[in-house]
Amino acid sequence: MNMLEDKNLNLTPLEKLGEFKLISHLTETFEIKNPSTQKGIGDDAAVLNFSGDEKTVISSDMLVEGVHFNLAYVPLKHLGYKAVMVNLSDIYAMNAQPTQIMVSFAVSNRFSVEALEEIYAGIKIACKNYEIDLVGGDTTSSTSGLILNITAIGKAKEEDLTYRDGAHENDLLVVSGDLGAAYLGLQVLERENHVFKVNPNVQPDLSEYEYLIGRQLKPEAGKHIYQLLKDLNVKPTSMIDVSDGLSSEIIHLSKHSGYGFKIYEEKIPLDPMVIKTAEEFGINPVTCALNGGEDYELLFTIKQEDYPRIKGNPHLTVIGHVTEQNAENYLMLKGNDQAVPLVAQGWNSFE
Ligand code: ADP
Ligand code: MG
Repeated sequence: MNMLEDKNLNLTPLEKLGEFKLISHLTETFEIKNPSTQKGIGDDAAVLNFSGDEKTVISSDMLVEGVHFNLAYVPLKHLGYKAVMVNLSDIYAMNAQPTQIMVSFAVSNRFSVEALEEIYAGIKIACKNYEIDLVGGDTTSSTSGLILNITAIGKAKEEDLTYRDGAHENDLLVVSGDLGAAYLGLQVLERENHVFKVNPNVQPDLSEYEYLIGRQLKPEAGKHIYQLLKDLNVKPTSMIDVSDGLSSEIIHLSKHSGYGFKIYEEKIPLDPMVIKTAEEFGINPVTCALNGGEDYELLFTIKQEDYPRIKGNPHLTVIGHVTEQNAENYLMLKGNDQAVPLVAQGWNSFE
C-alpha cells in the first residue's frame, strides 16, 4: 500500500487537523519513561533533569527525501524507526545512554495525516525498544518533499565518555556485528524499483535478500554493544559509529588521534549473504564494507590488555590495530603481504 498515491484510500488532508491538533494527534500516545524527563511535549521547551555527575550528550541528524531516502521503496514506518536509530547510534558511539529525542519535520500537502501517523508509529516503536522519551520537536510545511530532523539526547558519566581522538599506539581496532549488508540491501531495493518502473506487473520476490533489506530499512543502534562493553568492563579508548563506511570511519579515528591504523582484509566481518549478493552484483564484498555505509555498527579501539575480555565474543571482531603516530592507514590484502592505503569513499553530502 502506498500511503502517498493510493487514490482509493480515504486519506485525511493535513489542513483538516491544523498544526496544533496534528502535533497532539501524533504524540498523545507516547509515554514518558525516564526520570530525567521533567517536562516533555506541551510547553515552550522541554525540561530535563540529569543527576549531578552525569554529562549530557546531544546529537542531530537530518533526513531529506530524495537525498537520504526514496519513498518508492522505503515504508514510512521504517523511515520513522530508522531516523531514530541513526541518531541513537551517535549517542552510543560516545559510550552514552540515550534518554530523549526531539522530532522535527517539514512536509508538503502531498502527505496525509495517515502518512505522518505511520512515521510516528515507527518512532514510537523505537522509543519503546530503546526506552527513550519523545520530548518535543517542531512541525512545519515544505513546498516539495519530506524533511525529518531528529535530535537525540543522552547521558554518561565523565569517565565513561569515549571520543574519536583517544586511540594510542598498539591499541586494537574492534568492530561490532558485520558490515556491508545495508549497502547491498539498498542496491537490491534500487534494482527492484527500476524493474518495477519498467514493468509494474513484475512482482519481485525479495525473501532471499531479507537480511540485507532489513539492515537497510530497519537498522538497529548499538544498544546491545553499549551494554556488552559495560558487562565486559571494557572502556574503548576511542569510538565512532559506522555510518559512512569502514574506511571513512577509520580515517576519522586516525585524524583525530594522530595515529595510523592497519586493518586486515580477512578479518573484516561479512555475512554470507553479503558475499553471495556482492558476487551477484559483480562487486567485491570488502568494498561494500569499506565504502558502503549505513551499517550503524560501532567501531572502537581498546587497550591490548583488554583483549582477553573480548576474545571469542561473537558480536565483536578485532580487524586491526593502531600503528604509529602520523602513519598512513592501510588495508593488508588477503593471501599476500600487499598493503593498500585506505581512502575515504564514503557518503559525502556535497558530492
Ligand atoms: P512553538 O510555537 O513554541 O514552537 P509548537 O506549537 O511548535 O510551539 O510546539 C508545541 C509543543 O509541541 C512543544 O512542546 C513542541 O516541542 C512540541 N512539538 C511540536 N512539533 C512536534 C513534533 N513534530 N513532534 C513532537 N513534538 C512536537
Ligand atoms: Mg514550534
